[in-house]
Amino acid sequence: MTVRPLRDRRYVVETDGGTYVVTLDAGTCTCPDHAIRGSRCKHLRRVAMEVTAGSVPAPDQRVGVCAVCGAETFVPFDASGAQLCDRHAFEPGAVVRDRETGKRLVVVAVTTERADTYRTEEGRAIADYPTNADYGAHEPVVEAVYAESIRPGRSVADCDRYGFPASRLSRVL
Ligand SMILES: [Zn+2]
Ligand SMILES: [Zn+2]
Repeated sequence: MTVRPLRDRRYVVETDGGTYVVTLDAGTCTCPDHAIRGSRCKHLRRVAMEVTAGSVPAPDQRVGVCAVCGAETFVPFDASGAQLCDRHAFEPGAVVRDRETGKRLVVVAVTTERADTYRTEEGRAIADYPTNADYGAHEPVVEAVYAESIRPGRSVADCDRYGFPASRLSRVL
């Protein structure tokens, strides 16, 4: 039995006995077994199992491609713009290191805007800065503040935010 996600949140299940379409949210399958007994057929169970195992996206997800490593990753169904896999994404609040300067920063937000379209206050695209030449122009921009700018009595929201191509920042463990 093989399971493939369709583009409309349903799944195709191919078996030796036939090919069926499963709608996980509604708990329906197009197989005769389901039509006759209205029971949870083996196709429904198989799709649910593969979603749990992470081998196919959940109904509210779709397959996307990480802008840093090119690996397939599950992203929200309606996600648009540049995406990152779990290995290359950052959580807001994560402490990271800038590969160019070695400075520490705190991540504020991971955008889905590409480095070649995201503009700084100067009106220049992030990707056009010479220090970003070694990082992908198609990568999403990560907004961060310098750790040294965070002081007692000053919240992260009051610090100047800077945008970086995702792979220019590395996680600090
Ligand atoms: Zn079925
Ligand atoms: Zn990746």
